Amino acid sequence: MADLEKARKLIAKEKKYFARSARINYYDLVIDHAHGATLVDVDGNHYLDLLASASAINVGHTDERVVKAITTQAQKLIHYTPAYFHHVPEIELAQKLAEIAPGKSPKMVTFGNSGSDANDAIIKFARAYTGRQYLVSYMGAYHGSTYGSETLSGVSLNMTRQIGPMLPGVVHVPYPDLYRRLPGESEHEVALRFFAEFKRPFESFLPADETACVLIEPIQGDGGIVKAPEEYMQLVYNFCHENGILFAVDEVNQGLGRTGKMWSIQQFKDIEPDLISVGKSLAAGLPLSAVIGKKEIIDALGTPAHCFTTSGNPVCAAASLATLNVIEADHLVEKSASDGEYVKKRFLEMQQRHPAIGDVRMWGLNGGIELVKDQKTKEPDNETATKVIYYAFAHGVVLITLAGNILRFQPPLVITRAQLDQALAVLDDAFSAVEQNQVELPQTNEKIGW
Ligand code: PMP
Repeated sequence: MADLEKARKLIAKEKKYFARSARINYYDLVIDHAHGATLVDVDGNHYLDLLASASAINVGHTDERVVKAITTQAQKLIHYTPAYFHHVPEIELAQKLAEIAPGKSPKMVTFGNSGSDANDAIIKFARAYTGRQYLVSYMGAYHGSTYGSETLSGVSLNMTRQIGPMLPGVVHVPYPDLYRRLPGESEHEVALRFFAEFKRPFESFLPADETACVLIEPIQGDGGIVKAPEEYMQLVYNFCHENGILFAVDEVNQGLGRTGKMWSIQQFKDIEPDLISVGKSLAAGLPLSAVIGKKEIIDALGTPAHCFTTSGNPVCAAASLATLNVIEADHLVEKSASDGEYVKKRFLEMQQRHPAIGDVRMWGLNGGIELVKDQKTKEPDNETATKVIYYAFAHGVVLITLAGNILRFQPPLVITRAQLDQALAVLDDAFSAVEQNQVELPQTNEKIGW
């Protein structure tokens, strides 16, 4: 185990002053600096970062072009409230996002500071445009931490238990999970079964003509890297259009090249969302989010119904323009797709040797490796997952779990093949070490992970 002396002292201090509501417990990592896919902690230990989507760094840490854009802009103008006056980076970024959004109809853009507030904005735009109040979102989804976005989330009851009542008018439906399908069920049957579940509320208490929008993650991120079947997505999309319900997608986790497409909804054929939320990697980690929507929908909300003092500020907007340029110039979308194929093959090969690997889900550099106690019963194996991430940390690889038993594999898209091989070798060894009972978990009373 690496020396963690300074880190542990700092964490002890943090525990005294920092709200535990803002922390999910993993291991003792206090980051000092980072570059590309490498993190360096306060004790000088080096780690490979397999968590970049969560930390919002698709283009890698401290990319020179992004840093230059930030410093150049900071020397000119750090901030002026966009609610009153205009500045160049914001205008250019709005144009760029409108142009690269999926689909042909003209788009408009609004900015925010976080993925959470972008999803709140989706609620506002959808209600204002349709004049309807109800919203449909998914169990297992994470949409954020503000009241609106947390109400839309369905990932964990614990998140909302202490803070209700939540926003009224939100209905959660189950998200299709092909891994946990019924015995003998085909993908087509899974799609139909979950579409029937989707329609069930509309057949009883939820009037379709009073429903403003359906918000979906095309691939659930925090829910475990789970992708809905193509047929299911098309059925829901068509249902929305037939009933005047807006079809909104949350690309905060899965957008910007993460899945091997620019937008994760492009994993599905010919779908043009009415509204898209994007954030996290949009400005390489600076606080910036956006809602991109069809022009008439964004135009439906009057002024000033949605703006924040710092949203779309010049430094974040300049960082974002540079980030989008890096994604294009370095062909990171294509790289994500081909590296993802490579990593998936390696995990499938590991699955032959390590029975805890129940399912390998990977679209782009975007993996959910689900660990189970038994391949047949698919009982989640949280203990192995926790041991694997602790072993990996002790051997210089940083990753976390989703839902307790799913390894989240989301490195910066710039990670090199050599670094991927190194990370995969450590994970392979981690499984062997757990199988041979060689990994001890730290003694702690605190819950580890979500
Ligand atoms: N939507 C999704 C899909 C997310 O993964 C997240 C963050 N994990 C959010 C929204 C919220 O973004 P933020 O933390 O920037 O508010």
